[in-house]
Amino acid sequence: MAGGKIRKDKNHRGSAGANPHYQGGIQFHKSKGQHILKNPQLVDTIVEKSGIKPTDVILEIGPGTGNLTKKLLEAGKSVIAIELDPRMVLELQRRFQGTPSSKLKVIQGDVLKCDLPYFDICVANIPYQISSPLTFKLLAHRPLFRAAVIMFQREFAMRLVAQPGDTLYCRLSVNTQLLARVFYLLKVGRNNFRPPPKVDSSVVRIEPMRPFQNLNFKEWDGLVRICFNRKNKTLGAIFRQKTVLSLLEKNYKTLQALQIPENGSLEDIDIDMASAVSALGDTLGDLSMGNDDDGDDENEMDMDDDGEAKGSDFKERVLAVLKEGKYEDRRSSKITQVDFMHLLSLFNKAGIHFS
Ligand code: SAH
Repeated sequence: MAGGKIRKDKNHRGSAGANPHYQGGIQFHKSKGQHILKNPQLVDTIVEKSGIKPTDVILEIGPGTGNLTKKLLEAGKSVIAIELDPRMVLELQRRFQGTPSSKLKVIQGDVLKCDLPYFDICVANIPYQISSPLTFKLLAHRPLFRAAVIMFQREFAMRLVAQPGDTLYCRLSVNTQLLARVFYLLKVGRNNFRPPPKVDSSVVRIEPMRPFQNLNFKEWDGLVRICFNRKNKTLGAIFRQKTVLSLLEKNYKTLQALQIPENGSLEDIDIDMASAVSALGDTLGDLSMGNDDDGDDENEMDMDDDGEAKGSDFKERVLAVLKEGKYEDRRSSKITQVDFMHLLSLFNKAGIHFS
């Protein structure tokens, strides 16, 4: 079917085929990230590598004109497709009009704004501008699904899978890998899309994990944010900065005023894990695409003109924690998640909190 469609387009080279922004009379909008998959072999490869079972309920995000949807319908039990553009929804209804509604359900809406349905596996070629919030929306979804196989912009995909010591290792890598196992599946050149985007792409497999018990995500992200603000500086240098120390001291005083025992933890405070995780996606926003060291994220503290804080009891308290865990001379670019967790627990033990 998909092959037939493409051949038909070729026959019309003189009219619609000459304009890569058209297919079936639909003009593609870059603002909605509309780059449809035009290579049927690639669609087959993605579906094969997804490991779909015949019993699977599949979630597709941004089905567009349905080139991937068609193969997903053949591979799984049913497909639920969420599409923003009403013109695409009409095209899908036309293309799959013989398909029973128990097999294909098309929901018109913004995937970031709607409640996700139950699904076993998510397979999608998404609009790249929603990569970060979508990833964390999926990771916050319950019940846990088996996997999400998603096409991302290549740089974003490389950041998702980056390991400590890799150039691209960043907050996005640490936070994603805290919540999921991530595998790089394949490279996809820009000419597999119509119209071709300006960037190359890669397909990644994300397998969510049950999150660690008792880990406060807001605190975790608070620590990781500070550490990756200048990921190539030593933690000793980062935690000597005025802005960092005054932020931590403010938290310290607030919590003392709340009379939380100094060496206690925050376990008593009920944390809404799902909302904290999905909020990670919003704060990662564009940062996840740029270099953390650029410091161009307005949510980040600007430390360029930030001097070293004067000596104080609080500063000594913070530095003592770094010394205790031998973190003073280490750099975030090389620190594993397990070590970040250890560092957070040492700070908490000393009454120092990040949210
Ligand atoms: N998956 C299709 C089309 C990819 S283009 C294919 O591979 O051929 C991305 C699609 O996502 C477009 O159809 C676009 O309209 C849709 N889209 C963009 N933003 C969206 C959002 N926030 N929620 C759901 N769909 C969205």
